[in-house]
Amino acid sequence: MAKVINELSLTKELIKIPSVTPIDGGAIALVARHLKSLGFKCTMLEFKDKNTPTIKNLYARIGKTSPNFCFAGHTDVVPAGNIKAWDVGPFSGVVKNGKIYGRGTSDMKGGIACFIAAVSEFLNDKKKFKGSISFIITGDEESVAINGTKKVVDYLKKKKEKIDFCLVGEPSNRKVMGQMMKIGRRGSITTYVTLSGTQGHVAYPHEACNPSTPLIKILDKLKSMVLDKGNANFQPSNLEITKMATDSNADNVIPSTASATFNIRFNNKHSYASLKKKISSVTQSIANKYKCKANIEYSETGVAFITKPGKTIQLMSKVIKQITNKTPVLSTTGGTSDARFIKDIAPCVEFGLVGNTMHKVNECVAVSDLKKLKKIYYKILESYFH
Ligand SMILES: [Zn+2]
Repeated sequence: MAKVINELSLTKELIKIPSVTPIDGGAIALVARHLKSLGFKCTMLEFKDKNTPTIKNLYARIGKTSPNFCFAGHTDVVPAGNIKAWDVGPFSGVVKNGKIYGRGTSDMKGGIACFIAAVSEFLNDKKKFKGSISFIITGDEESVAINGTKKVVDYLKKKKEKIDFCLVGEPSNRKVMGQMMKIGRRGSITTYVTLSGTQGHVAYPHEACNPSTPLIKILDKLKSMVLDKGNANFQPSNLEITKMATDSNADNVIPSTASATFNIRFNNKHSYASLKKKISSVTQSIANKYKCKANIEYSETGVAFITKPGKTIQLMSKVIKQITNKTPVLSTTGGTSDARFIKDIAPCVEFGLVGNTMHKVNECVAVSDLKKLKKIYYKILESYFH
């Protein structure tokens, strides 16, 4: 009989490792150790960049035939924040009043523990299933996300590793288990605009050129533009201004530069190119009118994508309904996740724990939710390999 792993004890074990991104602290090795004990073949994948530390990642697989059902997750966590504001140690994994506390319980060590526990029970019960189960476990989702899933996906592509479906264990439910499954995400692009004019005395504006004036007009025009009205799968695209500044440090000086940063979360009606065209045309025409020079830079952090609801999503919905008594909404809301990379090699869906405490002090999940999630994952495997 293969050994059975308990989801609560594994969550605790993982919480006790302070794997604050990009530090691994042995979290990936711990996951690999458990998976090896279940018979998985584990491949450690380390990647680094010029300016980043080495990031540890893991690809593990059991079985040689298809279909290959993959679970994806990250072991790195965000910093604890104000430690004094926590009721318990952020890396203690204390259980209190039916909840387990600690940084990463919800996002997303609890999810990883539940899937490993589910797999251990599944292998124990159905030693001979047809297909493969695999894991992509990475270490830099919460930071720059360049040496984690992105490069693991490149590696898997090169190795021609076929993944038929991928379940990402991010906390997809806002308040209660079963509420929501994420079947795609909006895209994200950040724009940095700097306008250059001519510095001068505020009392002699005709002898200067204040770049703040056109900048305000540009931001107003962009912000009041209706990008779209959304569609069945996506909410409307939205622009938010996040930073504004000038280089003046006196109250009576017209600045020579004025700059702003804004981010657009966009749906599948737009691409980087179509948005950049819009932004650039508004910016350049207003800047020209005011005789200012405009410099525009972009940071592209993800395009909009969607996994068309098919057989596997239906099967998952049904299982979630069975265990939680709720039919999950198929949503594309929220921030970006590593699903944006995995979607290039496999249809991808996110379902995990309740996320209302993620990234906050006293991050926690109900012990009963861990049990529910493990059951859901188990039943998904059971019906997928039926
Ligand atoms: Zn996460």
